[in-house]
Amino acid sequence: MLKGGCFCGAVRYEAEGDPWHETVCHCSICRRTTGAPIVAWFTVRTGDFRIVAGEPVRFRSSTAATRTFCGACGTALAFQADDHPAEIDVTTGSLDDPERLPPKSHTWRASGLSWVKSADGLPSYPAKRPD
Ligand SMILES: [Zn+2]
Ligand SMILES: [Zn+2]
Repeated sequence: MLKGGCFCGAVRYEAEGDPWHETVCHCSICRRTTGAPIVAWFTVRTGDFRIVAGEPVRFRSSTAATRTFCGACGTALAFQADDHPAEIDVTTGSLDDPERLPPKSHTWRASGLSWVKSADGLPSYPAKRPD
């Protein structure tokens, strides 16, 4: 069981099942919606993810996806792509224990900032991770 929530505690979530696609995203939408240069994510089945306290705010971050965040403190929580309704991406940094899910790749590197460097040896992709 994975547990997490926003900074202020108003929104809490739980996720079951085995997470996958742990990645650090360098895309401009993650950057602009969080104010952070990169954002770590993991993926779980939508049916295995549930909000257990509060109600996050949802907004369309592009024509293809919805993001959620805490309306009180602003913590970015989740991402759902319209073409993958059975999956939900969750911000690793909102986990109670982010050490449980270290990233396994870097994605959307082509739209990343030039001054973000990494020497972690993980595979790095110019856009989304190859299927
Ligand atoms: Zn909050
Ligand atoms: Zn991104």
